[in-house]
Amino acid sequence: MSAAPAVLNVAATYVGTEALGPGVRSALWVQGCPFRCAGCIAPDWIPDRPARLAGPAELAEELLADPRVTGLTLSGGEPMQQAAGLAEVVRLARQIRDVSVVCFTGHRLERLRARPPSPGVPDLLAVVDVLVDGRYVAALNDGRGLRGSSNQGIHHLTSRLADCGYDFGRGPRTAELAVRGPEALLIGVPPLGLPAAFDSAVDAVRARMFPGRKQP
Ligand code: SF4
Repeated sequence: MSAAPAVLNVAATYVGTEALGPGVRSALWVQGCPFRCAGCIAPDWIPDRPARLAGPAELAEELLADPRVTGLTLSGGEPMQQAAGLAEVVRLARQIRDVSVVCFTGHRLERLRARPPSPGVPDLLAVVDVLVDGRYVAALNDGRGLRGSSNQGIHHLTSRLADCGYDFGRGPRTAELAVRGPEALLIGVPPLGLPAAFDSAVDAVRARMFPGRKQP
């Protein structure tokens, strides 16, 4: 097992969502992604810059603070850039509760196995139950499933979630919105049209609250 780094560079966390896989889950999005998919839903999380720096133990405890949580969803950004740290978060979380793990990556599984982009990749793959792999292609976004576009693959690396009744590939999408102070966090793989509707709603609220101010 690779040595886990002392801290992870975290874009955001959310405890207790039903929009990112089966059951009630907690999400951890890492900061930084080597890909530049056109239409990426999280462009602010692509730059490799310091965001929130937090240790695996702190994150594991935070993500499992809600007793309803039965799973973790790891996304970003690109989780494989911080694979060793995420594997350690999962290891520590499972000492608290035996959670399932869903992980998104822009890499292909075959490539991760053949040429891991970071030393902790085998450790992370060893604790992931479902891997959603491949880059986002906007033209192939069919509005279905827990993947952004139909070219992305769903790999059950363990049997844990294979018969849970959740359709990762074709099921209906849901999204949740969390407002924290001046920031809004969109959680889930958005149904078609939602990001544009969300932006218009934000513009409409801004226009009402700050009449006369030029909107961005
Ligand atoms: S791999 Fe994911 S986070 Fe990275 S640019 Fe593509 S859609 Fe965005």
